[in-house]
Amino acid sequence: MEYKDLTVMQLVDGIKTKKFTSESVVKYFIEQCKEKQHLNAVIEVFDDAVEKAVEIDKKISAGEQVGKLAGVPVAIKDNILCKGKKAGCASAFMQDFVSPYTATLVKKLEDEGAIIFARTNMDEFAMGGSCENTYYGACKNAHDDSCVSGGSSGGSAVAVAAGLCPVAIGTDTGGSVRQPSSFNGVVGIKPTYGTVSRYGIVAFASSTDQAAPITKTVEENEYVLQIMSGQDVHDSTSIKNDFAVDSPKQKIKIGLCRQLKDKIDGLKNSEKFYLAVKKLKEAGCEFVEVEVPHIENSLACYYVISPAEATSNLARFDGVKYTTRSKTAKSLEEVYVESRSQGFGKEVQRRIMLGNFVLSSGYFDAYYKKAKRLQDLLKIEFATAFSSCDVIMTPTTPDVAFKIGGKLNDPVAMYLEDLFTVPASLAGIPAISVPYAKDGHLPLGMQFMGAQKSEKILYQTAKLFQDLFKGGI
Ligand code: GLN
Repeated sequence: MEYKDLTVMQLVDGIKTKKFTSESVVKYFIEQCKEKQHLNAVIEVFDDAVEKAVEIDKKISAGEQVGKLAGVPVAIKDNILCKGKKAGCASAFMQDFVSPYTATLVKKLEDEGAIIFARTNMDEFAMGGSCENTYYGACKNAHDDSCVSGGSSGGSAVAVAAGLCPVAIGTDTGGSVRQPSSFNGVVGIKPTYGTVSRYGIVAFASSTDQAAPITKTVEENEYVLQIMSGQDVHDSTSIKNDFAVDSPKQKIKIGLCRQLKDKIDGLKNSEKFYLAVKKLKEAGCEFVEVEVPHIENSLACYYVISPAEATSNLARFDGVKYTTRSKTAKSLEEVYVESRSQGFGKEVQRRIMLGNFVLSSGYFDAYYKKAKRLQDLLKIEFATAFSSCDVIMTPTTPDVAFKIGGKLNDPVAMYLEDLFTVPASLAGIPAISVPYAKDGHLPLGMQFMGAQKSEKILYQTAKLFQDLFKGGI
């Protein structure tokens, strides 16, 4: 048995009971990162990781109290701050940025003894669904290195799937944890908006962004999310979400959304989806049809709201603060224009232009305001749907991972990847992706969405689902 085959809880237990040391665990995963460098999932291993592991081992030997993640190496996405470490958002513009402080979620993990040992590849500023929009070069799928990892948290998903770390943290704005998790056969959640503090995360669309763990199993995911979550004085949108205290349901009621039926029926893997429905029914789950009338407009709505927020959030990256300054600029205006033109990649520039367009006077009412109204409507519609079911089930993605380069020149095709993931993001509700089948050698994930703060029932459903499909469909 290798360390990569153990769960986070087994690793903690082994380290605490001195079956093995944190030092040996951390060194093992660093070695895995080196061996599988070609995947381009991990872009830096921090040089103080082993030292920190030794410290934990010493504490344990001295009989001192250690936390729930004692000695476990954790990788973080390149847009999450850890004091003194680089956080480049996979952008040429941010390549020299060193975090001046630590994100709350990282502090919470470290307070429980986690060792933040590496940072992972991503789409630049988390914009993308393939991890190809990155300064470090495309991240490759753990199951087929000619295919994309998915994105934007592609590096984190591949790192877990390929055994480079036991758990990695990603961020999900419109699907960036769930989609790459689905593409790589691992478990990824987007929690209820506000569950995890956003302090210390470089988000591009703050109103839908949440950081979350990517793990091999549902149990580990729940374990780590509980540690990361909590209200934070540094983030006024953070909430108290004690999902651990809810009791399990006797019979799970699963909703299938009527408005998505045609879309699902038209998918290449729809047969597998309905096989999963059948198996869940046999396992005692009840299925009901639910209505979310405007769900089909989610994609259009998301691609108005998120670029608008990106435009505003990225205004501070101007070649003066944080970012690399253009060497050719001769005036202040040129510093701004040239630094931003040279620093930001194509996709980021596209979104900034789109965002400025939908926010400009004359178009604001027609696009941005309308999209915000639609977002409010979606929240209401989802709340109504959850009055007749516990969770809503959809595929996580329309298909399995595609070839590297396959959608790079077609942004709309890339945006369509987010069809099933953006509705939950807009409504601020939790959603989890769990692997269940394969198409050839590539994994497929199932998504379960729940009402706000319903993580407990989501995890309960996800565990049942995981156990049913352990051996495939
Ligand atoms: N693919 C989506 C986008 O490009 C989601 C990104 C994310 O969740 N960060 O906006």
